Amino acid sequence: MINKRLQLVYHPDNVSKAIIYDLVKNYDIVINIIQARILPDEEGKLVMDIKVSKKSALDQALKYLNNEGIDVTILEKSIAYNQEACVHCGACTGLCKAEALIMDKTSWELLLDQENCLLCGMCVSACGFNALSLETNGDNYV
Ligand code: SF4
Ligand code: SF4
Repeated sequence: MINKRLQLVYHPDNVSKAIIYDLVKNYDIVINIIQARILPDEEGKLVMDIKVSKKSALDQALKYLNNEGIDVTILEKSIAYNQEACVHCGACTGLCKAEALIMDKTSWELLLDQENCLLCGMCVSACGFNALSLETNGDNYV
């Protein structure tokens, strides 16, 4: 199963099209709308999480959106670590069930393993020094 967060930007000429209906019906995509601002005859923006079983279906859906004139950005989240702000107190490691945050037993400095990170965000609120944050980066699909 492929999970993605997409941002769609509608334009006045396509804002009234049944885009979400088509995605569900024709591409077998499960959609959870996170945020939407769609008004008649205006530019609109919608952010949604999608689940799709095959990459080929995702590619076809993205092509369909492109053909309909919808601007699509694939949003990717990651955990950002500001080493300069970190005082290596270790408070975040106890909350990280994925063991993506561990203390180096030799240097006693914090180590972050992005591969193990589940993007749960628990560590962000645990850090009183704002050394950890969830970031969303966008890749435009054209
Ligand atoms: S809680 Fe913050 S300051 Fe402490 S080790 Fe984790 S990132 Fe560093
Ligand atoms: S976001 Fe969750 S899994 Fe990732 S480093 Fe923080 S606590 Fe660990």
